[in-house]
Amino acid sequence: MNKIRYFDHAATTAVKEDVLKEMISFFNLEFGNPSSLYTIGRSAKRALEEARIRTATAIGAMSKEIYFTGCGSESDNLAIKGVAYANCNKGNHIITTKIEHPAVLNTCKALEKEGFKVTYLDVDEDGLISLQDLESAINNKTILISIMFANNEIGTIEPIKEIGIIAKKHNVIFHTDAVQAVGNVKIDVKEMNIDLLSMSAHKFYGPKGVGALYIKEGIQCRKLQDGGHQEKDKRAGTENVAEIVGLGKAIDLAYKNLENYNKKLNELREYFITQIEKRVPYTKINGHRTKRLAGNVNISFRFVEGEELLLKLDERGICASAGSACSSGSSSPSHVLLAIGLQEEFAQGSLRITFGEENTKEDVDYLIESLVQIVEEVRNKSPKYLKFIKNELKIE
Ligand SMILES: *Cc1c(COP(=O)(O)O)cnc(C)c1O
Repeated sequence: MNKIRYFDHAATTAVKEDVLKEMISFFNLEFGNPSSLYTIGRSAKRALEEARIRTATAIGAMSKEIYFTGCGSESDNLAIKGVAYANCNKGNHIITTKIEHPAVLNTCKALEKEGFKVTYLDVDEDGLISLQDLESAINNKTILISIMFANNEIGTIEPIKEIGIIAKKHNVIFHTDAVQAVGNVKIDVKEMNIDLLSMSAHKFYGPKGVGALYIKEGIQCRKLQDGGHQEKDKRAGTENVAEIVGLGKAIDLAYKNLENYNKKLNELREYFITQIEKRVPYTKINGHRTKRLAGNVNISFRFVEGEELLLKLDERGICASAGSACSSGSSSPSHVLLAIGLQEEFAQGSLRITFGEENTKEDVDYLIESLVQIVEEVRNKSPKYLKFIKNELKIE
């Protein structure tokens, strides 16, 4: 067996040792229900509130504005449906983009079936929305703008602060799916005029199955789940104490170490891109070159199928992603790559590498060597490539 080398941190991350250490006692020793009044109930409640403070502090919110959920997808659902239902007396129009995660796209599609109208904004070839397009899409029925902070496939960071200004100017509620941004980018919800923000712990070295939604005080958002009155009556169900503690610890660690982390990822990324561009012809780097997540590289190899690349990388112990993990298994090009206007032959051969905590330069060297060999091997079996090369040589 090859040593596993993991380059898929946008799909999920391993729980950090220090995070696990804080979580573990809440599974057995401190197993009390936070709603119970006796000592172990109260200590669970205290742990919950400590996690809420840590989460709020990390993004510049107040702790009473943080609601814990079961995942990033749930946060997106609660934000978008909750705001839509609570504000449908004011209008029925929602604005989002063509490059959102399915948790947002499919939530909007579900609302369309209920009579809401949704505008899906185009993006440019780097994946950025146009602020002019956004502003002209707003009408007197618009109640919500939902635009992702950073894209999970190509890593492009949207102009969040500018979107916040436009939303405020037109008195429209602004939600952002920040699942890829939290733990990777500095966020201040007040300064950025963000009204709702979704996050998920497993994308920043916390556990899977726990998320949070920031809802600015005063924003109307209807609960989706009936039951007990947990989470200030926004999310019924006994709180997942251990994992919420994990989320709190993970976000705290992420922001304490943000600068070093980003510096490291930037270096690995730049090194990787430089080497690949030097050694593998007919490639294209997708996403914005500077307005981006430090650890994300989305790269297209012409004359190669992304899926085949993944399998051959896996044989060498390398974990990476073709397009988005959520759409793997289907071989149609990703909606994000189509939205940035990538030609089909590039979109088919696209690979997403996302660097993280445990990656070293040696790991990246191994990845580079493997990719150089695999791409050459695959291309040399492609009739299309061989024909292309023959023509190229003829021209010379
Ligand atoms: C991973 C991801 C989600 C979904 O989060 P889960 O916790 O897996 O439900 C939503 N949006 C973006 C941008 C993501 O990357």
